[in-house]
Amino acid sequence: MSELNLILLGPPGAGKGTQAERIKVDFKLVHISTGDMLRAQVAQSTELGSKAKEYMDRGELVPDGVIIGMITERIAEPDASDGFMLDGFPRTETQADALREALDASGREISAVVLVEVPDEEVVRRLAGRRVCVKNSAHIYHVEFDPPKREGVCDQDGARLVQRDDDHEDTVRRRLEVYHAQTAPLIDYYDDLDLLLRFDGLRPVEELHKRIRATLASVRMQQRL
Ligand code: AMP
Repeated sequence: MSELNLILLGPPGAGKGTQAERIKVDFKLVHISTGDMLRAQVAQSTELGSKAKEYMDRGELVPDGVIIGMITERIAEPDASDGFMLDGFPRTETQADALREALDASGREISAVVLVEVPDEEVVRRLAGRRVCVKNSAHIYHVEFDPPKREGVCDQDGARLVQRDDDHEDTVRRRLEVYHAQTAPLIDYYDDLDLLLRFDGLRPVEELHKRIRATLASVRMQQRL
């Protein structure tokens, strides 16, 4: 197996999406973000989208059954056969078990889990000021730390910038509670499988990217040996 199949783990606001945008280019991976997939369903007003929105707006997790089906189908698509990077999945032990089973069944496996750690108060600061482009949610800004050239307008494509409904402070705090209760146990889960790679999410974006890229390059080299 030489495909690089990665999981990005960490609290909301750790910078997973930002790093994913860079890493997918470095290693030619498909970036699969469950949050983006769900937001696309919400935008298209599908049945799944309207069900998911209630959970998302409250900062709760969408039920496992919905998410697992969505992801197992996605990773079986041809463009994911040369390697993928999961961002925002798995978020529960049930999801992690289901992912393992689905990969096992097709003779594939996870290559590494990239954990980006950031303290809670920093998460709140980052997310409450975050603004995303309505046209491409990978174009991300911060009112204080990374403002666009023109207030409220995306530098890259001129589209409007908005605050995600779930980036309001009370919802961010709920999302953090949910992360600690349901997702953080996956740190030990993947550490026990010897797959965990830890990174300090307080480092500047570029420096963090270089560290992740270097570590993943050596994971890939070992895979090929
Ligand atoms: P994110 O953009 O990854 O922060 O996801 C936004 C919201 O989508 C989360 O707060 C959840 O409500 C929902 N969501 C995304 N991924 C998952 C998942 N793997 N399991 C359950 N809910 C999810």
